[in-house]
Amino acid sequence: MSGFNTRAIHVGSGPDPTTGAVNPPVYLTSTYAQDGVGVPRFSDYARGDNPTRAALEACLAGLEEAQYGVAFASGLAGEDALLRTLVPGDHVILGDDAYGGTYRLLTRVFGNWGLTITCVDLGDLNTVRAAINDSTKMIWLETPSNPLLKVVSIAGLSKVAHEHGALLVVDNTFATPYLQRPLTLGADVVVHSTTKYVGGHSDVLGGFIATNHNELAANVRYHQYAIGAVPGPLDCYLLLRGLKTLGVRMDRHCSNAAAIAAFLSGHAAVEKVYYPGLEAHRGHDVAVQQMSDFGGMVSFTLKGGAASARKVCESTATFILAESLGGVESLIELPAVMTHLSAAGSTLEPPDSLVRLSVGIEDLDDLIADLAQALA
Ligand code: PLP
Repeated sequence: MSGFNTRAIHVGSGPDPTTGAVNPPVYLTSTYAQDGVGVPRFSDYARGDNPTRAALEACLAGLEEAQYGVAFASGLAGEDALLRTLVPGDHVILGDDAYGGTYRLLTRVFGNWGLTITCVDLGDLNTVRAAINDSTKMIWLETPSNPLLKVVSIAGLSKVAHEHGALLVVDNTFATPYLQRPLTLGADVVVHSTTKYVGGHSDVLGGFIATNHNELAANVRYHQYAIGAVPGPLDCYLLLRGLKTLGVRMDRHCSNAAAIAAFLSGHAAVEKVYYPGLEAHRGHDVAVQQMSDFGGMVSFTLKGGAASARKVCESTATFILAESLGGVESLIELPAVMTHLSAAGSTLEPPDSLVRLSVGIEDLDDLIADLAQALA
């Protein structure tokens, strides 16, 4: 198998067979001509298939070392399709730190539909075992998690899940397949919000499900078609283009984030820094084992509490105050009242003085100077 960057650039792309165009065409079509009744040349309808989408699915599935990959209109649309493979009465265990929208989807949408959900600290395997019951069908985790950057053992949790016949689902949005490939560590399914690092330029929404389980992949594909939360062809093209630079962007996100985590750790106004690359981080040793670097996300709490955190978020210039993450530009936000508002009052509610940074690929000196003036 060739290297990550080579595959990111060539799988699914390559010269178009008819014109030699170096980039895959954006197939803007809703339907395909049929040579006879029921004999379409490519597919019967674009909700079912689209060549630009197929190129994206081949490329990202390959990077996750998955046999199957299914693209969606957003991360939550992919999660929705995956959860619909369960049936009412099934039980899902979710980590106690996760994107607020995932928590909302599980509790408020699928809770009404009949799934039961338990949120636990996945860093303690005995706690996880105690939470499993006869109906448990999935253990769902983010590592590193959003927004506390918790890191948990994919190999350890996959053993626990498999002892009980459950699937291990890993949201790999923060790490990306460049830093971590959960399926090679025992996970059954990888979930992505491709809106983030895969797209990389804050200009597209997308989601992805990758797996090596044949029947599960067919079931997710069926839901993609039957429900229709598919990405448009231009979105697929943008995501495919994003993948080509994922490796070089992640290297820079990681080195900038590591330097910023070190800067924040030594700052008098900062109470605690959450970054898996710091030796004091609870999941550091696991991160060293299962990731090739520590990612571009850094969170921290302020000694001055929620008011100081809000002030810092409103005082940066290069860091843009905005939700989302993973783009080339640096972003800053207050999870408790922004990205994780839907987890308010739950065990997933983040500390109110927590600031989350999505560290971009700008010049490091400019980023540190911006944070220094905002913290002052
Ligand atoms: N998973 C994680 C870790 C996220 O941060 C997000 C969004 O922020 C999602 C899933 C949902 O993705 P989307 O916003 O593309 O629906």
